[in-house]
Amino acid sequence: MLAKGAQGSGGSVSDERPLRFAILGAGMSGILCAIKLREAGYDDFVLYEKADRLGGTWRENTYPGIACDVPSHLYRYSFEPNPEWSHRYSPGSEIQAYFEGVAGKHGITERIRFGEEVTRCERASGRWRLTTKRGRGDEVDVVLAATGVLHHPKLPEIAGLEDFAGASFHSARWDHTVPIDGRRLGVIGTGSTAIQLTSAVVPRVAKYLLFQRTAPWVMPQENPRYSDEERAAFRRDPAVLHELYDGLSRTIAALSAGLIDASSPQMQWVEAQCRANLERSVRDPELRERLRPSYRAACKRLIISPDFYDAIQQPHSELVTDGIERVEPEGIRTRDGRLHALDVLVLATGFRVDRFIRPTEVIGRDGQRLDDAWASRPIAYLSVGVPGFPNLFLLNGPNGPVGNFSLIQVAELQIDYVLQLVARLREGRCREISPTASATEHFDAARTEAAKHSIWSTGCRSWYLDDRGVPATWPWTFDRFREEMSAPKLEAYEQVG
Ligand code: NAP
Repeated sequence: MLAKGAQGSGGSVSDERPLRFAILGAGMSGILCAIKLREAGYDDFVLYEKADRLGGTWRENTYPGIACDVPSHLYRYSFEPNPEWSHRYSPGSEIQAYFEGVAGKHGITERIRFGEEVTRCERASGRWRLTTKRGRGDEVDVVLAATGVLHHPKLPEIAGLEDFAGASFHSARWDHTVPIDGRRLGVIGTGSTAIQLTSAVVPRVAKYLLFQRTAPWVMPQENPRYSDEERAAFRRDPAVLHELYDGLSRTIAALSAGLIDASSPQMQWVEAQCRANLERSVRDPELRERLRPSYRAACKRLIISPDFYDAIQQPHSELVTDGIERVEPEGIRTRDGRLHALDVLVLATGFRVDRFIRPTEVIGRDGQRLDDAWASRPIAYLSVGVPGFPNLFLLNGPNGPVGNFSLIQVAELQIDYVLQLVARLREGRCREISPTASATEHFDAARTEAAKHSIWSTGCRSWYLDDRGVPATWPWTFDRFREEMSAPKLEAYEQVG
C-alpha cells in the first residue's frame, strides 16, 4: 500500500505513532543520534555499545601521538563548543574526554547498554528484531547504525607474523603494558597513524624503523598550543568560538572542493606545499628520493605533520624501503636479505573500511541479507539508506564525505536528514521508509562517474578506493552534500503502510 502523502508533504497527518529506536555504537555519531532524538521529542531509545566505554575511534586509538588532523574548533559538535581545547589539533585523550563530557551533560551515558554487541537485526512483523551477543532481544521501529568507518583493524598478510618473539599489535590496539622506552621499535605503514606515531615515539626509543611500502606526501602544519589568554577569551565570548567554527568550516570546504577536480588550483597548491616541505626538510638527497611519492598529493588521504621529516632523520631512525620478505622471531627480514632486529612491532596498516554495520547480520524485507545486497561492495543512497532495509539508517555510511572533513559535521547533517524521514513515520504518513532501488542505482552511477575526475582517481593505492579502484567517497562538494541533506527528495523513497 502506498503511504499517505507519499509523493509530497501535503497528505493529512493521522495519529502520531510512538517509535522505539536502537542506536548501534556509542561513538561520536551514536552520542549525536541520542542527543538529536531527544531534542526531537523521541525518548524511547537504547544505545547499544559492544565495549565498556563510549568514544568509538577515540576510545580504541590510544597510540602515542594520536591527535585529530581536523582543527579542534571544527572537530566538535556544532551545539557544544569547547573553549578548553589545548591545541589547534588536540590529542586523542582530550577528544575522548570531550565526548564523555558531552554524553554525561546530555544524560546519554546512562542510556548506553555497555558490553552489548548487537549481532543480528531482522525485519519481523514491521519492526526490527535485535539480538545481542549475550542473547538479549529487543524490538524497535528504527535502527540507527552509528558503527563507524575506520573501525576494524586490517592486519597485513605477512609470512611469519605470528612467529615474532617480541610484542606485536595493531596501532588501534596499542598495548600500554609493553614498554617502548629505550627499545627497538618497528612500525609497518606510512598512513596518518604511522606518521603521527613516528614523531611521538622516536624521542623515546633506542632504535626506530619505519617500514615504508609507499612514500607519503606530508603537508606541513604547525600545532600551536592555545594560550591561557586565548582560552579565557573563548570562555568569555561564545561568539568568538562560533566565528572560529564557521571560518574553519568554510576554509576546509573550500580546500576540499578542490579534491573533486584533480586539476584544481587547490590541489596544485597542496602539492606545492608538500613538495616544498620535502625539499627543505630532508637533507640527504638519497633519503629525500626514497621519501618522494610517485603519485599526486592528496590522492591518498592527505597527511599533516610539523615534524615527521625531523623524526625520520634522527640518527637512530631508519626508513626501510626494501620490501618485507617475512617476519622472524627476532624481527623483520626484508627482500635484500637483511634482518631488522626488533623488540616491538606495530602494525599501522589501516582498517577494513567496507564493513560499516557489519559483522552484525542484517536481514531486511523478504529475508534479504545486507551481506548479499552488499556482495559487490557497500552502497547506500546518499550514504544513509539501503533499498529493502526500511527504517534503518546509517551515519557515516558508504559513499559519504570522508576526505579531511570533520566527520562530526557530516554526521550532524545526516541525522537532521534522517529525522525528517523518521518524522513521516511518527506522523503516520507511512510505516516503512527506504530509498528506492532506482534512486540508489542512479546515485551510485552518478557518484561513480563524478569520482573519475577527483584527485583520488589519479593513480595511487588508498583506502578510499573500492574493489574496482573507484573512490567510494562523496565526489562532489561539501556544499552539495549540505544541500542534499537539507531535505529528503521524497520521490527517491518508497513509503509503505
Ligand atoms: P592507512 O592510511 O590505510 O595506512 C595503512 C598503511 O599501511 C599504508 O601506508 C599501507 O601501505 C601500509 N600497509 C598496509 N598493509 C601493508 C603490508 N602488507 N605491507 C606493508 N605496508 C602495508 O591507515 P591509517 O594510517 O591507520 O589511517 C587510516 C585513516 O584513519 C586515515 O587516512 C585517516 O582518515 C584516519 N586517521 C586520522 C587521523 C587523524 O589525525 N584524524 C589519525 C590517524 C588516522 P600503502 O600506502 O602502500 O598501501
